[in-house]
Amino acid sequence: MMDCLFCKIIDGEIPSTKVYEDEYVYSFKDIAPIAPVHYLIIPKAHIASANDITEENSSLVAKVFEAAAKIAKAEGIESYRIINNCGDDAGQTVKHMHFHMLAGVKMGWGPESLGKTE
Ligand code: 5GP
Ligand code: ZN
Repeated sequence: MMDCLFCKIIDGEIPSTKVYEDEYVYSFKDIAPIAPVHYLIIPKAHIASANDITEENSSLVAKVFEAAAKIAKAEGIESYRIINNCGDDAGQTVKHMHFHMLAGVKMGWGPESLGKTE
């Protein structure tokens, strides 16, 4: 897609620090990390959000999680969190579906971890 930031990163038009790549997915370091390890894992195909997952493209989500497991093994990461923000209220700012892989810190869980803005 012409006007998509992450499609441009996949194409190399915008530079990124690559973590992993295969036929289906691309992974790179988040430009504004919120944890010691903060990678983004994205399908190469442009899918706007998790709300656009269909029977036809859902295998790409499995590829994302396969990639996460490979990255974790390669980097010796034993524990990690994968987050997908879908839509504006959830904080999705880039409309190319992506999964945040966070690690390297003890993470909280519960309502406070939502970081509510209102
Ligand atoms: P979202 O808020 O949509 O779930 O996540 C978008 C993520 O993309 C944010 O964590 C943001 O820091 C990251 N990001 C935005 N622009 C760029 C960029 O040009 N390069 C990289 N590597 N990450 C970006
Ligand atoms: Zn895209």
